[in-house]
Amino acid sequence: MILSQFQAVGHDLFSRGLVASSGGNLSVRFGDRIIITRRGSQLGCLEENDLIETGLSKNDRSTPLASIELPVHRAIYQVTSASAIVHAHPPHAIALSLAETEIEPTDAEGLSLLGSVPVLGWHMEVRPGGLADIIAQALKQCRLVMVRGHGSFAIGQLLEEAHNCTTMLEGSCRVICLLKSLKVEQANK
Ligand SMILES: [Zn+2]
Repeated sequence: MILSQFQAVGHDLFSRGLVASSGGNLSVRFGDRIIITRRGSQLGCLEENDLIETGLSKNDRSTPLASIELPVHRAIYQVTSASAIVHAHPPHAIALSLAETEIEPTDAEGLSLLGSVPVLGWHMEVRPGGLADIIAQALKQCRLVMVRGHGSFAIGQLLEEAHNCTTMLEGSCRVICLLKSLKVEQANK
């Protein structure tokens, strides 16, 4: 049941180009336990041994096998009521994150679901597994954030919900990028 949810979301993210072969990670929380994708796993073709169960705050034998972003997932679960997290690398959103400190969807659906999306990590060193507390604190206020030049972290009660926010963000960012390119062309006429 859980495996099929991970597989459906992972495969969809991969087929939409929102993660590369081994990028991105997914997790769900049950009480003080987390199930998270394995370090280096391919979200497009997850198998049972790609799901790692470990503690929300305590390390155990499985912890080293977990995604490199485990510290971020743990920090988010500790300060929000989220039960699921999707971390992806949506290309249009990443491009905008390098130029903007906040991404404001211009399409009505994106704006109503996401609101204004904060871009974190300006003037900071951005590396996988880093900025855990900053990301977690920001997700107390919204359901999705971007880390500058890296990717998105979306939360929900179900993986499906966090996945929906992620695909919505990339759709909105594609529209913003298209609008920006139209403006460039008009200015050149
Ligand atoms: Zn990443």
